[in-house]
Amino acid sequence: MCGIVGMVCAEQVATKLYDSLIQLQHRGQDAAGIITCNERLHFKMGLGLVRDIFEDRHIKRLEGTMGIGHTRYPTSGSKAFVEEVQPLWTSVPNGIAIAHNGNIVNPEVLREEVTVQRKRYLNTSSDSEILLHLFASSLQQYLEADISESMDDEQFFEAAVASVQSLSELVEGSYSVVGLIKDRGLIAFRDPHGIRPLVLGKKTRTGHDEYIIASEDTMFHMLEFEYVRDIAPSEVVMVTKQGHLFSQIFAHASYNPCIFEYVYFARPDAVINNISVYRSRLRMGENLGKRWKEVYKDLRPDVVIPAPSTSNTMALSMAKELNVEYSEGLYKNPFIGRTFIMSDQAERRQSVRYKLAPQRLEIKDKVVLVVDDSIVRGTTSREIVSMVRDYGAKAVWFASACPPVTHPCQYGVDIPTKGELIASSHTIEEIRAYLGVDILFYQETPDLIEAVMRKSVGCIDMPCHACLGGPYVAGYKEVES
Ligand code: SF4
Repeated sequence: MCGIVGMVCAEQVATKLYDSLIQLQHRGQDAAGIITCNERLHFKMGLGLVRDIFEDRHIKRLEGTMGIGHTRYPTSGSKAFVEEVQPLWTSVPNGIAIAHNGNIVNPEVLREEVTVQRKRYLNTSSDSEILLHLFASSLQQYLEADISESMDDEQFFEAAVASVQSLSELVEGSYSVVGLIKDRGLIAFRDPHGIRPLVLGKKTRTGHDEYIIASEDTMFHMLEFEYVRDIAPSEVVMVTKQGHLFSQIFAHASYNPCIFEYVYFARPDAVINNISVYRSRLRMGENLGKRWKEVYKDLRPDVVIPAPSTSNTMALSMAKELNVEYSEGLYKNPFIGRTFIMSDQAERRQSVRYKLAPQRLEIKDKVVLVVDDSIVRGTTSREIVSMVRDYGAKAVWFASACPPVTHPCQYGVDIPTKGELIASSHTIEEIRAYLGVDILFYQETPDLIEAVMRKSVGCIDMPCHACLGGPYVAGYKEVES
């Protein structure tokens, strides 16, 4: 899981890219980087949080009116090496840099294609570097084949589209990409299934069109960009330095954006795939409440408490549907990172008690229904239940807005190997016993899909839900569990 952003403006972009990465920090906290471009490429990358990597002196050095940025949680490659922090760049042809969100599932085949067939050197184990060189080497071929004195922007864009198309015929997996091509402009493309999000925004100042393309529109308001639309699956977009936009869709496949973006990852104020994340979460809680009423006719908790903070929205609408009290009975310390994207299991378990503090008055002597967005490994949920019991709950029930997560994600989200997923090897009754709850209640998959798609205006065919037992639409790689 990563956050990416690219921008072409009339003025310097470094500060705006920095601000954008701050607004995408929730998508990855392990490393970040920015590359800008004027007569040359300027870059700064580092490990850690955005605010700790970039100082004033770095931002001043990042000159140029176009640039890209990346904030990462590694799903491929090595976490420890700063060489793998994106954006990644290569000098041939032109000077090209990319920032990638997603995961490639056939990297071994592609690695051979790049190093043996195309004779390019790969310096890291990152799948994004493979993507960079596949694109760059194709583009180089198209440029060398052109015999005209100098390509105009339209001809160059055609070469870029052909390069992405040839890349898409080789690559399996998910990729939303923003890139820079020196002396040309910003480029962006999305895989044929549109698995990871990519959103386009625009503003016009003194006759000059400025564009932003990012994983989420969470920074648009702050930077005064207007939401335009999502980049479509199989679409290539290029924005020239002068602010002229070219766009082409080169293929048609089914549109299958990741359902987990709505369950957990995306910020609630984001609109991705033209669907409000916040509203979809409200509908998840509503559907959960409706199903609860069918299954447990007259059984109601005294209070609904969210496992903060993604599930606050879901718990609120579930409480409303059940007509019971909603209480924020677990206080979340905002200065500790989200446990799901901490990659070490022990660190994750320990951090639950550091970051969540129960409120005795909201819990003691009550039948408490805890609502969480999902249960992945089960360790966080178990700690929460134990805390609620310690604070005197009469009974603890637990509802998950996401159905059992039974399969690993291969498309860029840290949903781990099957062996680490509690629902892949345990029955619901066994999970209930492990969590130590009196009732465990899961959302049904059709109800979750309905919650995401209810207000969709017909463009999405079916959200990817491979981790919930649905099809792996963009290829699959056998992994040890
Ligand atoms: Fe998202 Fe799950 Fe599909 Fe991965 S497998 S892209 S987490 S829905």
